Amino acid sequence: MTPPSTPSTIVANAAADLSWQEDLYKYLHAHPELSGAEEQTAQRIEEELRRFPDWAVTTGIGGYGITAVLRNGDGPTVLMRADFDGLPVAEATEVDYGSKHSQLNAEGQRVPTMHACGHDHHTSSLLGAMAILDATRQDWSGTVIALFQPAEEAAVGAHRMVSDGLDQIIPRPDVCLAQHVVAGPAGEIYTAPGPVMTSSTTIEITLYGRGAHASMPHRSVDPVVLAASTVMRLQTIVSREVPPGQFAVVTVASVEAGKANNVIPDSAKISLSCRFYDEDLRKRVVAAIKRIVRAEAQAAGADREPSFKFVGMLGATDNAAEAFETVRPAFDERFSKNSLDMEPWTASEDFSVIPKHFGVPYLLWTVGITPRRQWQRAEEAGRLDIDIPTNHNPGFLPDLGTLPVATEAAAVAILACLQRSWPDTSSPEELRQQPTQKEIAAAQIETAPGD
Ligand SMILES: [Zn+2]
Ligand SMILES: [Zn+2]
Repeated sequence: MTPPSTPSTIVANAAADLSWQEDLYKYLHAHPELSGAEEQTAQRIEEELRRFPDWAVTTGIGGYGITAVLRNGDGPTVLMRADFDGLPVAEATEVDYGSKHSQLNAEGQRVPTMHACGHDHHTSSLLGAMAILDATRQDWSGTVIALFQPAEEAAVGAHRMVSDGLDQIIPRPDVCLAQHVVAGPAGEIYTAPGPVMTSSTTIEITLYGRGAHASMPHRSVDPVVLAASTVMRLQTIVSREVPPGQFAVVTVASVEAGKANNVIPDSAKISLSCRFYDEDLRKRVVAAIKRIVRAEAQAAGADREPSFKFVGMLGATDNAAEAFETVRPAFDERFSKNSLDMEPWTASEDFSVIPKHFGVPYLLWTVGITPRRQWQRAEEAGRLDIDIPTNHNPGFLPDLGTLPVATEAAAVAILACLQRSWPDTSSPEELRQQPTQKEIAAAQIETAPGD
C-alpha cells in the first residue's frame, strides 16, 4: 500500500510544464499598467489561460477581473487570488526586462509605470500553480478557483469584482488564499494566524479659511496657518491618545494650499493615511482626527466647517486560525527551514474583501524575494533598513529563483485546503452575519467616490 500523498509529495512529483513561466513573468514585469487600466495585462492573462482548456474562464469582472474554475469531482472549493496592477514608479533596476513603460494616469499625465509591488510575480505564480494542479488532477478532488484581480493598489479592485456579481460567476469557496512578495531572504515563506496586515483609512480634509491679499493678513482667515497647526496637533493622537503598545499610524501624506506668493488662499487640503490592526482603535482615532480638525478650524476663526472625504477604506487582513493550521504544516513539509513565522506587516490589502463577502476563512502569506547575497551583505553591514529595497521602491526586484517557490507555495496551500473538510458556513443563519450587498455597496462608495 502506498501512503496517502501529501501536498508536498504531489507537488514534488508533478509533471507540469512550467517552461513558459519565466518569459511570462518578464513580459509582465516589462509592461506594468496602472490600477484600473490593466487592459494589456488582462489580455495576456487571458491568452495564458488558453493553456488550461478545462478551466471555465470568465473575463471582465468589475473591470479587468478574471476567474478560472476547475471542477474536479467532490470536495472543497478553494479560491486563490493574484493581483496584477502596477504602480506609477520609475523602475531603477539594471535588468533587461526592467520597465521602460509609461501610461496616462487618471489626471491625464504620462507617468512611468513599474511592477514595484511584485503583482507580476503573484500572477505568474498563480498561473504556474494552475499548471501543477492541472497536471495532478488524479491526486486531488474538489474545485479550484484562480482569481486574477485588478486595481489592488487603488484598493478598489476586490470591491469592484464583488459588486459586479462575483458570487453569481464562481461557486462559493470554502476558503480563500493569497500571497504577497516582500523584502526578505529569497525563498523564505512567512505565515501567521490573526491580523497580519493593517486596516487602512484614507481621509482628504479641506480646511476653509478666508482669502485675502498677502499684505493684509488681518482680512483673512489663513488656511495655511490653520493647516500647519492642524498637522502638528494631529501628531498628538498617536503619541498622547493611543495606549503605548497599541499600533496606530496617522500620516499626513499631502498638504496643498496656495498658488501665488501674494495671495492668501481661501482653503487648504490635507490628506491622511491611517493604519490599524484593531477596529475599535480605528474608530477612536478617526473620531480624534475629526475633533482636532474641527477644533483647530474653530480656533482659527473659520466661518465654515472643514469637510472630510473618506477616499479609501480597507479592513485589516486577519488570517483565520483554521486556514493557518491547514496550510502551515504543508509549508513546513515542503519548505522545511524556509517556512517561518510572519511578522505583522503595516501595509494594507484589499484581498480580504473577497473572503469577507463570502463569509469564509482566509490566509494571506508572504514570500521573501531579496537575493540572498544582497540580504547577507546588508545584514552584515547592519544596513537592512537602508540597503534592501522594499515594496514600492524603484529598486524592488524579486530574485527570479523565487518564482518557482511562490508557484509551489500556491499549489501546496491549495492542495492542503483541498485535503480537509471545511465547516459548512453557508447555512442561512450564518449567512445573516455576513456583510450584506448594501454594506458592500456602501464600502464601495467610501472607497471610490465619483467613479
Ligand atoms: Zn503595493
Ligand atoms: Zn501589493
